[in-house]
Amino acid sequence: MTSGAVIAFVVSAMLLMLVAGLRFGFDLVSLVIFGLIVAVGALAVAVARKKEAVAPAFCRDCHRVTSPNAPYCKHCGARATG
Ligand SMILES: [Zn+2]
Repeated sequence: MTSGAVIAFVVSAMLLMLVAGLRFGFDLVSLVIFGLIVAVGALAVAVARKKEAVAPAFCRDCHRVTSPNAPYCKHCGARATG
């Protein structure tokens, strides 16, 4: 799951809760569920972003692990393909 998909899921879940709350009235249980969705959603987004950030890239020339954000391979200096 990408962070974009996680964000879309969390936002749609929050909108659903908001619509249900406006329609049926917010009570303590719905507020607690809403808070849980926000907390779990923020955590899921953070985890998804971290996973994407640390995903390794491999150099096309020497096939060693490089930083996905580096413009050049730190081992052989080849230009990164992105
Ligand atoms: Zn290399």
